[in-house]
Amino acid sequence: MSYQVLARRWRPQKFEDVVGQGHIVRSLQNSLKEDRVGHAYIFSGTRGIGKTSIARIFAKALRCETRLESGDACGSCRSCEDFNTSSSMNVIEIDGASNNGVDDIRDLIGNIQYLPSSGKYKVYIIDEVHMLSTPAFNALLKTLEEPPEHAIFLMATTEPEKLLGTVLSRCQRFDFRHAGVKDLADHIRKVSVKEGIEFEQEILITELAKLGNGSFRDALSLLDQVLSFSTDKNISEEVFSRSLGVAKTSAIKNIIEGVIEADVQRITETYRTMIAENVSLKNIVKSLLESVFGIISSKDFNDYNRVSDRISKEVFDKASRAELYWIYEVLAQDFAWSLTSIAPEDATEIVIRKVALRNDFIAEVSGGQQTSSGKPQASSSELEQVIEEVVEEKPVVQVLEQPIEPVIEAVKEAKEVEEIVEKTVEAPRKIVIPIPEKVEETVSAEAENKVEEKEVIDNSDKSWEGFLNYLTGVSPASSSNLEQGNLTRPLAYVEGTVAVSLGFPQSSKVFFDYLNEAEAYEKLKTNIAKYFDVELEKVSLILNLVNKAEAEKTSFQSKFEIKVKEEEIVNQNKEKEIASDEMIKHAEDIFGSSIDKIVLNEKNRS
Ligand SMILES: [Zn+2]
Repeated sequence: MSYQVLARRWRPQKFEDVVGQGHIVRSLQNSLKEDRVGHAYIFSGTRGIGKTSIARIFAKALRCETRLESGDACGSCRSCEDFNTSSSMNVIEIDGASNNGVDDIRDLIGNIQYLPSSGKYKVYIIDEVHMLSTPAFNALLKTLEEPPEHAIFLMATTEPEKLLGTVLSRCQRFDFRHAGVKDLADHIRKVSVKEGIEFEQEILITELAKLGNGSFRDALSLLDQVLSFSTDKNISEEVFSRSLGVAKTSAIKNIIEGVIEADVQRITETYRTMIAENVSLKNIVKSLLESVFGIISSKDFNDYNRVSDRISKEVFDKASRAELYWIYEVLAQDFAWSLTSIAPEDATEIVIRKVALRNDFIAEVSGGQQTSSGKPQASSSELEQVIEEVVEEKPVVQVLEQPIEPVIEAVKEAKEVEEIVEKTVEAPRKIVIPIPEKVEETVSAEAENKVEEKEVIDNSDKSWEGFLNYLTGVSPASSSNLEQGNLTRPLAYVEGTVAVSLGFPQSSKVFFDYLNEAEAYEKLKTNIAKYFDVELEKVSLILNLVNKAEAEKTSFQSKFEIKVKEEEIVNQNKEKEIASDEMIKHAEDIFGSSIDKIVLNEKNRS
């Protein structure tokens, strides 16, 4: 016996077999029970979702002489037997796509006036009815206007909007639900159990369901394809990925972790292996975006388990939310460009690497702040957060990273400090320094002075600074984008109008471009209107690129550059202070070494 494809073998035969279209099934069952049957039905919805299957189940039930309680056909009466023969004169099925001429329709309805040879109804099933030519349609329409009592039309279409209003108005229309991933996964699982198919990982079922794209038929056809690569109905990730040309979960994990940890080598190796294994670019890109999206959601809801196969706990904890939002935005935007570029494979690789190296680039842009060994430094937002948190704390000196051996016990006792300095040969010593309030105050006061000189504000307390703070709460990613630029003209906020002129250095063109996108631009405007409490039409927002010469002439600096400078000052001050601390000097004496690096850390708690 030849192999029958799964989609066909598992085609629903009775109402209860139909998955995910409960509303339609119930309605049809009721109309059968109450004998309220219309003359024309339109079943609309995406492909492979069960439209034709339901049409057949319904047709058979309509004709059955001894219907069951459920509304299903009995399967054994004369009409049911007639239904099972392909030459039935009472159930006539045509495909509108291949029989779309007016003659085809005339053939179909030519003998419509004759009573059925058995049972009560003659049923006409027309698949892809929107494909009929206009003359064919008109011929059909005439019949639909005044159909004989015994004739019922069941028409299926994936594009109901192509049907004339005159047709739709004569039909009962049922819109089939797009099958959700869960419905599809449940169906795949059910079929797999009955067929003795085993998936090595549960996530493969979900992946398959997603690839089914709302269609039961497509999902099962894909399962057939996977099975043809497997020798024993056992589906491993390897088989799955090779047969469907999709990215392995482990490979996607490699790339995501590589992006977060700035591990370009890991990214490149994994990426090129996938390309060599014929994984489509589109698939790689889609999987990456989906995964980052999932990670962001998990971060927002603090639920790591949902993405445990996409990212390790360690890296998950390490990545900040703002960073992940930013990564998603940039990837989504740049992939749109890379996929349509002249060399899509290379361009896509560059996009991923660029995002991975974000901290290095920012450091290069802001001058001097080089990162070592390609590892990312804490992002500016993280540092900010540290500073904010730490302001409330009392100054404390604390050790960071791999505390080494109990050498320091004695010091601990002697000095009554909770955690102190470690002695290490290889690892650089890192000491966490909180920023005392006064330092922070000085810095922000300075910054404010600078801004105040520039700003023309009415008496209200609303300022550009205030807006940026507000935006950080509403949309952290766009706030960090904005910080890549700065006001080029004083903010004008008078009489219910706001005029903002923002400049971006050439090095931040990517952010400038992003903010210039219609959607981002409108969103920014809306947020400005909200914060300054003016009408949207009263917001003037001008974005400019400031070239190097101009920037030098006007000593233009982006917020980000200013911030980095400020942080440097704070750090230098604190480093000086710490280095001259009595206790530290004492510790240096004990260990016979000197401090070589001082960093701020958010874990600092007294
Ligand atoms: Zn029957």
